[in-house]
Amino acid sequence: MKCPVDKTDTLSRIALIEGLPAMQCSNCGGVWVDSNAYLAWRKGSGEAESPKSAEIKIDPAWDVDELKLCPNSGRIMGRYKILADTDFHLDRCGHCNGIWFDKNEWDALIELGLRDKINEFFTRPWQDEIRTSEARNHMDNLYLEKFGADDYEYIQKVREWMKDHPKRGMLLAYLQASDPYKI
Ligand SMILES: [Zn+2]
Ligand SMILES: [Zn+2]
Repeated sequence: MKCPVDKTDTLSRIALIEGLPAMQCSNCGGVWVDSNAYLAWRKGSGEAESPKSAEIKIDPAWDVDELKLCPNSGRIMGRYKILADTDFHLDRCGHCNGIWFDKNEWDALIELGLRDKINEFFTRPWQDEIRTSEARNHMDNLYLEKFGADDYEYIQKVREWMKDHPKRGMLLAYLQASDPYKI
């Protein structure tokens, strides 16, 4: 098996974690995992860990940002974003479903409490969620820039207060009128 990063025959068998066999590159430290092996390990590993992503900031400087060939089937692997607003990608073969972890990526997933979610990363709902979240953050930053922190905070409060207000229509008309006291 050839390492998709070094393109040399440097993969050898390891246990990534107890019960999960994998192939690791002695050169770059990357790891290839068979998806069936992962699912079997996942099934036998008991209760799923819950994600704890909120406070942990990951700076994936280790990510090898290039297209890779699957060490198992030789096909081009897809690159999938794992978290919103982070350059953390995993490479996965759409042909044999094998997954490539660059050095540190597996450890980072453990730290994030995501090691039980890996099969979900490559699904439409997970990828849609990332896109939605990134679009939202983008707009958030734009408003912050346009309004300034104080005004933005203020108008968010007003918006929240108005959202389900029974007199919402009238309140909006009051705000928009140039002189609400002149009929
Ligand atoms: Zn390698
Ligand atoms: Zn493959």
